[in-house]
Amino acid sequence: MGRFTDKVAIITGSSNGIGRSTAIILAKDGAKVTITGRNAERLEETKQQIISAGVSADNINSVVADITTSAGQDQIINSTIQKFGKIDILVNNAGAAITDPSGSSGLAQNISVYDKTFELNVRSVIELTQKAKPHLIASKGEIVNVSSIAASPQSHPDFNYYSMSKAALDQFTRNIAIELVKSGIRVNCVNPGLVITGFAQAMGAPVEVSSKLYSYMGSHPDCVPIGRVGQPEDIANIIAFLADRSASFYIIGQTITADGGSTLVMAMNTHNLTDLLQN
Ligand code: NDP
Repeated sequence: MGRFTDKVAIITGSSNGIGRSTAIILAKDGAKVTITGRNAERLEETKQQIISAGVSADNINSVVADITTSAGQDQIINSTIQKFGKIDILVNNAGAAITDPSGSSGLAQNISVYDKTFELNVRSVIELTQKAKPHLIASKGEIVNVSSIAASPQSHPDFNYYSMSKAALDQFTRNIAIELVKSGIRVNCVNPGLVITGFAQAMGAPVEVSSKLYSYMGSHPDCVPIGRVGQPEDIANIIAFLADRSASFYIIGQTITADGGSTLVMAMNTHNLTDLLQN
C-alpha cells in the first residue's frame, strides 16, 4: 500500500518541472493522477515517465488544456470524475512569470502582462478550486497551491506582476483554508526558491543562459546558502507531504518556504561584520 492508494489527484502544470515530479511521486505512491498542460508532447513525456516508474497507464488521465480557459478547467475536472469517479487532491501548480514582448521589466511592463499573469497565477487557481470544491468536500480532500518566494515581503522589482500574483495566491491560501476547513478540506501552499525546471525557458531564456544562472546562484551562498539550486523533487516531496492527510493533518493554511535558505539571507550579513568592526 502506497501513501496515496485509493486517492485521486489533479496536478496542474504537470507537463514539466515541479508538476511533473509531483505527478510521478504521487502516482508511484498509489494515486490515480490527472496530468495536464498545454504542450501535448511534454505531457506525453510525463505520462511515459510515470509508466516507467512502474505505474499502470490506467491510473493516468492525460488532459491537454489551457488552464486559463473555462473549457480547459471543465475538461480537467469532468474527465477526472468520468475516469476515476472522485477528486481527493488538487495541486494548483501551473504558473509562470510572463514577460513583456518589448523586453520591459518593473513598472514599465505593459498592463496586459499584469492581466495575463493574474489570469494564470491567480484567476485560474480560483476558478479551478471553485470547480473542484464540491468533489473535495465529498472526499474531505486536500489542496496544495504552488506559490513562490517572490511572494515574500522583500522587493522584487524585476518580477513586479509575478511577485504580486504569488502574494495574492498566498493570501488566497490563507483565506480559503479557514473557509474550507469547515467542510473538511485542508488547504496549504509551498513557496519554492530557485528550482531547475522549464520556468526560465518559458520566460524566453535559452537553456545555456538559464544553466549559467543556476550555477552562479548555486555557487554563491549569499544567494542560496545550502550551496545548490533546487531540483523539482525538492519541492514535489513537500507537496506530497502537504497532500498526505496522515502526515500533515495539523497544518492548515500555511505557506511553506523551500528555498535552501535564500530568503533568510540579508545582504548586510553576507559581508563579514566582525572584520568590519575590527578594522
Ligand atoms: P515549468 O515551466 O517547468 O512548468 C510550468 C507548468 O505550468 C508547465 O507544465 C506548463 O505547461 C504549465 N502551464 C503554464 N501555463 C499554462 C496554461 N496557460 N495552461 C496550462 N498549463 C500551463 O515551471 P515550474 O515547474 O518551475 O513551475 C511550477 C510552479 O512553480 C509555478 O507556479 C511557478 O510559478 C512556481 N515556481 C517556480 C520556481 C522556479 O524557480 N522554477 C520558483 C518559485 C515558484 P505547458 O507549457 O504545457 O502549458
